[in-house]
Amino acid sequence: MMNPSLRIYLFVLLSLFFAASAVPTVAQIKPGRDPNQAIDQDYTNKIREYTTAPYFNSPLTDYLPASPNVPTPKAVLGDVAGAPGKLPYAEDVYKYMRMLERATPRVKVYSIGTTEEGREMIAVAVASEKLLEKLEENRARLTKLADPRTINMDDAEADRLVAASFPVYYITGTIHSPETGAPTALMELAYRLAVDDSSYVKFIRDNVVTLITPVVEVDGRNRMVDVYNWHLAHPNENWPWLVYWGHYVAHDNNRDAIGLSLKLTRNVLNTYLAWKPQVLHDLHESVPYLYDNTIGDGPYNAWVDPILTDEWQMIGWNNVSEMTKFGMPGVFAHGNFDTWSPGYLMFMAATHNGISRLYETFGNGGADTLDRTLSPSEYERTWYKQNPPLPKAKWSQRNNNNYEQTALLTSLYYFGNNSKLFLKNFYLKSKRSVDKPKNEGPAAYVLPGDESRVGNQAELVRTLQAQGVEISRATAPFTVAVKAKRAATPTPSASPAASPSASPAASPARRKDTEDRTFPAGSYIVRMDQPYSRIADALLDYQYWAPNDPQTAIYDDTAWTMGELANVEVVRVVDTRVLQAQMDRVTAEVRSSGGIGNTGSVYVVNHNADNNLVTLRYRLKDVEMEAAEEPFEAAGRKFNRGSFIIRRASETDLRNIANELGIQVYAVADAPSVKTHPVRAPRIAIMHTWLSTQDEGWYRIGFDQLQVPFAYISTQDVAKEPNLKSKYDVVVFAPVSRSPLNIINGLPMYGNPIPWKNTSLTPNLGRIDETDDMRPGLGWSGLQNLIKFVKDGGLFITVDDTTDFAVQLGFTAGVTLTRSTRLRAVGDILRTKTVDAASPIAYGYGDSLAMYCSNGPIFGVNNGVGGGGRRPGGTQRSTGRGTPEDPDVPQGRPMPEIPEPPPRAEAWQAPPVTEEQRRNAIGLIPPALRPRVVLRYADSRDLFVSGLLDGGDEIAQRPAVVDVPSGNGHVLLFSTNPFWRGQTKGSYMLVFNAIMNWDNLNAGRKLDEK
Ligand SMILES: [Zn+2]
Repeated sequence: MMNPSLRIYLFVLLSLFFAASAVPTVAQIKPGRDPNQAIDQDYTNKIREYTTAPYFNSPLTDYLPASPNVPTPKAVLGDVAGAPGKLPYAEDVYKYMRMLERATPRVKVYSIGTTEEGREMIAVAVASEKLLEKLEENRARLTKLADPRTINMDDAEADRLVAASFPVYYITGTIHSPETGAPTALMELAYRLAVDDSSYVKFIRDNVVTLITPVVEVDGRNRMVDVYNWHLAHPNENWPWLVYWGHYVAHDNNRDAIGLSLKLTRNVLNTYLAWKPQVLHDLHESVPYLYDNTIGDGPYNAWVDPILTDEWQMIGWNNVSEMTKFGMPGVFAHGNFDTWSPGYLMFMAATHNGISRLYETFGNGGADTLDRTLSPSEYERTWYKQNPPLPKAKWSQRNNNNYEQTALLTSLYYFGNNSKLFLKNFYLKSKRSVDKPKNEGPAAYVLPGDESRVGNQAELVRTLQAQGVEISRATAPFTVAVKAKRAATPTPSASPAASPSASPAASPARRKDTEDRTFPAGSYIVRMDQPYSRIADALLDYQYWAPNDPQTAIYDDTAWTMGELANVEVVRVVDTRVLQAQMDRVTAEVRSSGGIGNTGSVYVVNHNADNNLVTLRYRLKDVEMEAAEEPFEAAGRKFNRGSFIIRRASETDLRNIANELGIQVYAVADAPSVKTHPVRAPRIAIMHTWLSTQDEGWYRIGFDQLQVPFAYISTQDVAKEPNLKSKYDVVVFAPVSRSPLNIINGLPMYGNPIPWKNTSLTPNLGRIDETDDMRPGLGWSGLQNLIKFVKDGGLFITVDDTTDFAVQLGFTAGVTLTRSTRLRAVGDILRTKTVDAASPIAYGYGDSLAMYCSNGPIFGVNNGVGGGGRRPGGTQRSTGRGTPEDPDVPQGRPMPEIPEPPPRAEAWQAPPVTEEQRRNAIGLIPPALRPRVVLRYADSRDLFVSGLLDGGDEIAQRPAVVDVPSGNGHVLLFSTNPFWRGQTKGSYMLVFNAIMNWDNLNAGRKLDEK
């Protein structure tokens, strides 16, 4: 046996030896070309020609090494990467990557899926042939490091794996289509990594696998190239703006890492999960000249491992430092990007034990070389920008490509140089994720087995499964301690007048009140002792953004709590006994169970606000269905208001679809005796403008996912169709982020027409919709047509800023709308209360739905047009004699009789009609046409659910969802947004209820007597 001190001595010696051999003399490697390797002189000349100033280049990219057998990007582009006037389609980028693959064993191309429009996505691996040969055995090691349970959490074994492994660094380009530089930069980067024999690049190639998805938003890239080519073909004309990027959404494709609605998100996530890379690095363009915003600013996401936030600092500062030494201006980190939301594409790495990174580089929205003048805020020196961008400079796409490649090469080099550290960190982060229950907690999240919305519950669990999260299901009931119900919490302030700002309590409850709760068998358990516990924790937990947080430039949503937004119960369990519950790992994709129970010729389906009910309705669109206007009992069960009653249907069809959709149908002998009305599958149009399609895309994707068919029309189509009602029953007008007049006027008609059409020059435009000229808006005729559509009996659905359109342009008698002045509800989740549960819009919902709200409009309702009807004043008396409780007494006459004050109206109610109004009731709205408030915002103290809420009293108690009858039709107003980023699936049914009951929205309505 060895002497212990000798053993330690030998260990230290060996460690030193291995440390030294793992990183051989790298400190001496100087960035720049190998003088012994020939350069491609033509290519190099062009690089220098297209770079607008020497300091916009670096020793890493101011030349291109020559290769006798490997083609340069010029083979496909006809010029160098970043050349003016050259913007390749995705297919051309792929063609080049595959040429590389054929020419060198150092490049491999993988197909990683297709887009919504069927275009391919790829990932390109570049490394030395030695590393690429060992890719599979390395993947096996990385998979073990990523799941330390497989090596029994054995740190020594992890060290052996780390010593044998090499890291994978995953780079993704051009998710944002107007940010055009990355594809050519990444083509050239792949070439350099494969060909360049300089010590610097060779070191990267020998130590890191660089994985590249050169185009993330493939559909949008090809449209952008079309637009740019149109611009080149019409040099003196205005050119189309990129109104569509991807098939559904634009900039928000980089907010989908929560809901995973888009194929590009799923494809990159699946690649990430399969390759186990240590970094996911996404390339963007906005600010000059290179902003490494990974470090960004606070608040940081509260669920990531502190090891990761340190890694951000290390890599980010190295990046700035190296490029500063190259003398490249405008390279900085920090800035004002907060790293709170987990919705960004690159953040998938942060929530899955990797490292998320992001660059903003500078671009011209195409490949033109332009003189760019910056604003002082962009070029002034600040503490984190010591070598700021130049106030004025000529900027080219080549400059952009120099910056992107230089920054990536320095990152790859640094990463390779510290690969063992980062691989060990990768293991440690994974291990700490598995250790979560015994460290910070929680132990698990439980989705109870007695959930009433089983369809939405299954949908939420499927999203977690797609995130790579392991799901278990209890096979027996179990009891654990959970947080006690909130009722016991005292309110911080009794007097609302004393605290003008209704905000969540400033400090968390001191008392650690818990109570035991028994969950039934069948409950889903998301154990936190798994490698991907962090993503589940981040998505299922609540968010709290303090109103006094120093960060006031809030970058994005402050809340995303998935259980609340899905309207299903999710219970955070700290009690580690939950891990001992009897349970099985769920291996298949989770589905709610469906079918037909009992026997009989009449079928009933409980309305539980599950989204698959609308799919059922449309899949069986020729089958007559009715909605019960009151709750009833049948087949020994309780059925909610709105439940479907189907008197005639093919049992086989119904059974098959119920099975497929996971809907439980009950057969009964006789239809229940309850008042009903038809539930329809009406003709829907989703109306878009040519100004912006960003937010309505989330409506289209929601409708498509649930197989709800719709016509897709533009405001220009509406302008041309005087009889809209002959074509559609429902028109949905999702938020546009434009003013009502903007929607009507469109854009100024100066200059040339601006087409958005499928032509041989622009083969990727059109498809979704097209026009000869994008400029004209709805116009006044379109407005008339829409008003007539409603009068003719149509349903017009408006949300957030399109409610401004409906209210200001006279669609909604009796509704007032103001915009908040103090409220700060920045992409957060607020509680609503059901005011009128008999409205078909509320079918299936309980009393308190949490909804997404982003400073929504503040509604008021009245029984008169033009703000008629005064809200009764407060309780304070006027100036005069006596105490505050006494009446005033006019002097020198007897005291008159004081009439009873009018009944008090709540903030969500119309003030009662007075005798004065009725005397000549010109502006008085007939009772049947008065606004009907379906949901309101909760009281101040109950309003906050998740995120940032400040000044909440401004919107507390105000109407949130209002149904306004008009002529024979209805206008529906949402202050909240029921379709947001694929995250708000719990509120979709408010819209679908309105649609399915579009011609019976007055059901259950109690009319005012006068
Ligand atoms: Zn971007």
